[in-house]
Amino acid sequence: METPALAIRAQRTWDPVAGAVDGPAVVRVRNGVIQEIVAGAEPRTDEALTELGPDETLLPGLIDCHVHLCWDPAGDHVEDFSRIEDAGLEERVRRACAQLLAAGITCVRDLGDRSFVTLKSRDAIATRPWTGPEILTAGPPITPPGGHCWFLGGETTPAHIEASVAARAERGVDVVKMMATGGKITPGSAPHESQYDGATLSRAVRAARHRSLPITAHAHGPDGIRDGVAAGMNGIEHCTFFTSDGIGYDERIVRRIAADGIAVSVPEATWHTTDELPLPPDPRLEGIWSNVVRMHRAGVPISISSDSDISPRKPHGVLARGAVRLTQHGMDAHDALLALTANPAAACGLDHRKARVAPGYDADLLVVKGDPITDISTLLHPVHVLRAGHRVATTAAARVATSNQEEMQ
Ligand SMILES: [Zn+2]
Repeated sequence: METPALAIRAQRTWDPVAGAVDGPAVVRVRNGVIQEIVAGAEPRTDEALTELGPDETLLPGLIDCHVHLCWDPAGDHVEDFSRIEDAGLEERVRRACAQLLAAGITCVRDLGDRSFVTLKSRDAIATRPWTGPEILTAGPPITPPGGHCWFLGGETTPAHIEASVAARAERGVDVVKMMATGGKITPGSAPHESQYDGATLSRAVRAARHRSLPITAHAHGPDGIRDGVAAGMNGIEHCTFFTSDGIGYDERIVRRIAADGIAVSVPEATWHTTDELPLPPDPRLEGIWSNVVRMHRAGVPISISSDSDISPRKPHGVLARGAVRLTQHGMDAHDALLALTANPAAACGLDHRKARVAPGYDADLLVVKGDPITDISTLLHPVHVLRAGHRVATTAAARVATSNQEEMQ
């Protein structure tokens, strides 16, 4: 696909490898890919130049590796999914994609749709990248009959695990998602309780490997986390160590996660009390964030994600608020930025072409006002967003998204 060449002159860039670099530098983009970066260069007279302001920073677009593009945050999920047709879900996905791009999120991994509706959007966006973030998708997650998120249609008994993985591979998913434990939002489901035994998780991992697919496990409870890690999952979603009455932490399991390089994705970015909405503090959430920073210090590659749009507290585009939370809990800004860029790129198997401001990488780029290293909250207000080299709407669209969110409250 031919897209017009463009050049951006930046006074400051941030990149996961190079860190913050003071400019000026000219970043040249052709056919959606960063072609070259020339420090100190003057733009050529024949190129379309975007001149960034002296206090603006160019950085890679953000990656949210745990979203739900076809959900209604305000609804009763069981009832909602029993009623809505696929066309309605597809409309939600389109809306979600605009909101995400406006917030500077240029790549997402959907870890739970119904009817595999996000595959269609993924393929449509691949040919029209300015309409949405690049999508990786799991389709409906694998869960036991009546288990967490059963209403998405992925109910699978242990006997049918291999067939369920094979069916997903045939549909063309990018990743397999399996509900190792219960979850918070399904009536009758308990997050700390395991839903499959270790042997079944291991069979799922083998079946996914056989199809050359990565597999990630939703796991809150310590037993489910331990079994998912022992089974060889590529990723653990949540990893909260929820117990029946609080939050624990298991150093042995965490050491194993770090040693095996298992990607931990923490979908807890949310509106919170220090922002515009006066929500009451949630002690459990504080415990989760402390655990996240502890795991990071133990060497676990942490991705912050959002679980958007599963509740009104988690609208699409809320991701950067997770980075704000991380710094409030003691993580430095560079590492918090990695949790929104390089780490989720690696978790998604896209680190060879995403989340760098470097030649050969996708021109999925974000411009913020200010320096995210000294003030991480600059990420909340993107000035420009480029998706595969295409300028997309930010402020105006973001304003619409924000007012929608406010209505939802
Ligand atoms: Zn989720």
